[in-house]
Amino acid sequence: MPSFVITEKCDGCKGGDKTACMYICPNDLMVLEPNEMKAYNQEPDACWECFSCIKICPNQAIECRGYSDFVPMGASLVPMMGTEDIMWTCKFRNGVIKRFKFPIRTTPEGQANAYLGEKGNDLDSGLCFTCEKDGLELVKPLELA
Ligand code: SF4
Ligand code: SF4
Repeated sequence: MPSFVITEKCDGCKGGDKTACMYICPNDLMVLEPNEMKAYNQEPDACWECFSCIKICPNQAIECRGYSDFVPMGASLVPMMGTEDIMWTCKFRNGVIKRFKFPIRTTPEGQANAYLGEKGNDLDSGLCFTCEKDGLELVKPLELA
């Protein structure tokens, strides 16, 4: 299901030319209604459900129903991004609310260095799956050139 704005929570990012959700949407779907200063998804059928606008909204004003394979009851999902983790709030149709917190990084914010970390190549750290590492190694010579 496409993203949708909870208008009571949206403050239009307090004015400005471009709101956070407008800035981040890869399809330019989010627009601001100029009179009410509320954002909305102008073309839901074109929404990739990528969650980018949902994650970046500073007011947790955008929601999306999760994919049925991991939220089979069609819960709406609201993420709260931190610098080290993300908290997902899942609101199920029967009123049950569950929260899940996951780490989103293995290094302090701003410290990730894929190729020149203190321990050498971070890609060799064992944190990547083999296929990821193989794929990333393909571009390494180009990026260092
Ligand atoms: Fe509203 Fe959130 Fe979009 Fe800002 S990012 S305009 S608060 S929906
Ligand atoms: Fe755009 Fe992704 Fe948000 Fe859909 S979920 S409106 S594609 S940023």
